This record gives sequence, C-alpha cells and structure tokens, in this order.
Amino acid sequence: MASVELRNVRKAYGSLEVIHGVSLSIEDGQFIALVGPSGCGKSTLLRMIAGLEEITAGDVVIDHAVVNDLTPRERNIAMVFQSYALYPHMTVAENMGFNLRLSGAPKPVIAERVNEAARMLDLMPLLDRKPAQLSGGQRQRVAMGRAIVRNPAVFLFDEPLSNLDAKLRVQMRSEIKTLHQKVGTTSIYVTHDQIEAMTLADRIVVLNQGRMEQEGTPMELYKKPANLFVAAFIGSPA
Ligand code: ADP
Ligand code: MG
Repeated sequence: MASVELRNVRKAYGSLEVIHGVSLSIEDGQFIALVGPSGCGKSTLLRMIAGLEEITAGDVVIDHAVVNDLTPRERNIAMVFQSYALYPHMTVAENMGFNLRLSGAPKPVIAERVNEAARMLDLMPLLDRKPAQLSGGQRQRVAMGRAIVRNPAVFLFDEPLSNLDAKLRVQMRSEIKTLHQKVGTTSIYVTHDQIEAMTLADRIVVLNQGRMEQEGTPMELYKKPANLFVAAFIGSPA
C-alpha cells in the first residue's frame, strides 16, 4: 500500500491544456472516487499517475517519492479498465499469472498467488477456462484478479463496470468494496456514476474541464456542495 500525491499536475496535448493544475493527496489505504462528466480529464489523470502518459508540469508522488521518471512497472501500480483486455488464448490462471511470469517469478510462487487471488474472487472453479467461456462479470473479476496477483501498491480503476448491465454492476460494486476491505490497497476509482462513487469511496474528487471542483467525503459533498456543478453532479438537494 502507498500514499499518492499530485502536486499541481498539468497535461497538455500539443498546445491544448486538458489538466490545469490538479493537487490532491490520498492517504495509504484510502478509496477515492474520481468523478466528472465525459471528457473532463479523468482517464488522463489516471494515466499520468500510472506512468502511461507523460506529465507536462507538476509532480506525481508515491509514498513520498517523486515518480515522474519511473516506468509504469517501477511504480508498482495496477490498472483495471472497462475493456477487460484478457488474452483470449490463455486460461484464467495463465491470464492472472501473466504479469508475474513476465517479472520472472518462480512457478510455485505464481501458482500460490494466483490461487490466493482466485479464492478471494470466487474464481477457483474457473481457473482452467478461456475468457470466451466466461460471463462479463467473471471476466471483470479475472481482470481484477490479474491486478491483485501483482500485489500492487496502488489500484487504479477506469470505469471498470461501465460495460456491464445494471444488475451485474450493483453486484460487482459490492465485490469491489469487499475486496478493498480485505486487501486494503490504496485505490483510485474513476466513474461517471455518482451512486457508485457514493457507495464505494472514502472520499470523492469532482473534476470538471480539467480542474478539481471539490473533494471531500460523500456526506460532505452531498450536504455542502461547493457550487451548482457539484450539487447537480452529486444529486444533492441544494
Ligand atoms: P475522461 O476520461 O474524463 O472522459 P479524458 O481524460 O479521456 O476524459 O480526456 C480529457 C480531454 O483530453 C478530452 O478533451 C480529450 O479529448 C483530450 N484527450 C485525451 N487524450 C488525448 C490525446 N491522446 N490527444 C489529444 N487529446 C486528448
Ligand atoms: Mg475516460
């Protein structure tokens, strides 16, 4: 687990700045929801934290160290996307162990970690299946399993449930909550679904057009929205 800090982070694509100086501090083990309308910069911000996108200015700090120049692998961050990006020719077990295999972990260690994650996510009976033989929810669990197996310091989720139907979304939401209670890994969870944010997060960060509008506990945002934008987004009566 690790703390994450953004210090006046900016991102420009060419001459167009899309993240205008965001500062944020996330404590070890916290679950943060990052919400905001489509195009406001949520994915860009996550990708900068992950090291998948160069930052134009500012610092990304993990466990009190500036990591701007570290590769994604060196940052020890796992990212879960909406498109599950599982390898179709590999079994569930092989998919889950893939990153560990790349990093040269011995086979028995990989097997042990895969089994541990599979038990946590109820994937034990599915370990020998191929992704095509799984439901959408099961695939999403495998994608999370693959992330957990690496024992990352930070989890980044980019709208992981947006491809699932409403019923499955509710079920997966509670599974993610349970998972966080079990492993306690610092998590940043991007969603445009305010109910998801309200139920999952210790704190919510509201982003609008590349700027942070407000951050606080779900209750704080609901009771004291800083402006009409936050009020409308959170659905508070103000
Ligand atoms: P969100 O995830 O909140 O929907 P994004 O982070 O994907 O938003 O995008 C934020 C802004 O940056 C958008 O205006 C988008 O068009 C722009 N953008 C994202 N990626 C690129 C890119 N590779 N090149 C140019 N503009 C981009
Ligand atoms: Mg996005």
